[in-house]
Amino acid sequence: MNATTTLPDTETMYQAIVNRDAEMEGLFLFAVKTTGIFCRPGCRSKPPKRENVEFFATADEASQAGYRACKRCRPLEFSGSVPAWLTKLVDALEAEPTRRWTDADLVEMGLSPIRVRRWFQEHYQMTFHAYLRTRRIGLAVNMLHAGQDVTSVALDSGFESLSGFRDSLRKWTGETPTSIRSGEPILVDRFLTPLGPMLAAGNDAGLCLLEFADRKMLPKQFQRISRQFAEPILPGTHPVLALAAQQIAEYFDRTRTEFTLPLRLDGTSFQEAVWNRLLQIPYGQTRSYGELAMQLGKPTASRAIGRTNGDNRLAIVVPCHRVVRSDGHLCGYAGGLWRKKWLLEHERKAKQTVLPL
Ligand SMILES: [Zn+2]
Repeated sequence: MNATTTLPDTETMYQAIVNRDAEMEGLFLFAVKTTGIFCRPGCRSKPPKRENVEFFATADEASQAGYRACKRCRPLEFSGSVPAWLTKLVDALEAEPTRRWTDADLVEMGLSPIRVRRWFQEHYQMTFHAYLRTRRIGLAVNMLHAGQDVTSVALDSGFESLSGFRDSLRKWTGETPTSIRSGEPILVDRFLTPLGPMLAAGNDAGLCLLEFADRKMLPKQFQRISRQFAEPILPGTHPVLALAAQQIAEYFDRTRTEFTLPLRLDGTSFQEAVWNRLLQIPYGQTRSYGELAMQLGKPTASRAIGRTNGDNRLAIVVPCHRVVRSDGHLCGYAGGLWRKKWLLEHERKAKQTVLPL
């Protein structure tokens, strides 16, 4: 993809540097002409003057332009998904989820235990060992679902005792082995888009969350779905998350204008009515709050519709970005106004390409 089309506008990026805005992490890198160094937006170094700054979408591009990576913010190490140096470990974790990892095991794989812990802390907001525990719990939950008995599940999923298993399960999911048989966990994963990493959550019942995963917001996003659906939340993968990642990639490649994903739009009856109405706004078009209010037969409810639009949990798929003010102004967007602007522009250009007449 062409880098220049995937960057936020330069003023937004420069402000992010000055404010050391962590929400912009992974979206762009900046280089400083006077020092020859490139950094992540959240770098703690003194912000450079505007005229000395050059922006890049990737570390490769910055390196090719002759810049060196900053030793302070280490832009080469940051990635929204699993970085190359960590893939071997992540593959091993998937292949053998019940294995108990020691620092010595990591060193043997050529990894620094400190670096591994730091990555898990930043990426999942939990320690490496807590992550391993949640993976084991996730595995156990699936086995309980499949009807295996509690004792064998505890042992098969890598727990040394039944009581330790019950305690961990209760701590992480708030449930007991018996109650969990009836409730399916919601799995959460992240994937990269040209507008930054997105967080997707779902299970067999459908996709229940798709949001731009600004790291600062992560714990809040987890709490929100946990409260809404009263189901345990675990990091992991699920076919519905893979499908969402694929369709979103196609949307960004302009090969998809409609989504065929199973959605969980649970909310109040008013919220569900508004969200279903949003689903009917065609690709590349916009509607005003007033128009939606009329269509819903609630002409005075523009304000409530605006709020409900902002409460949408399924970014892009439920196209709340296609709602604008009656005078055509864009107004707010939970994922940031620059993203809304980018999405509308993206759809407008795609329509021109598909329909040249
Ligand atoms: Zn730096």
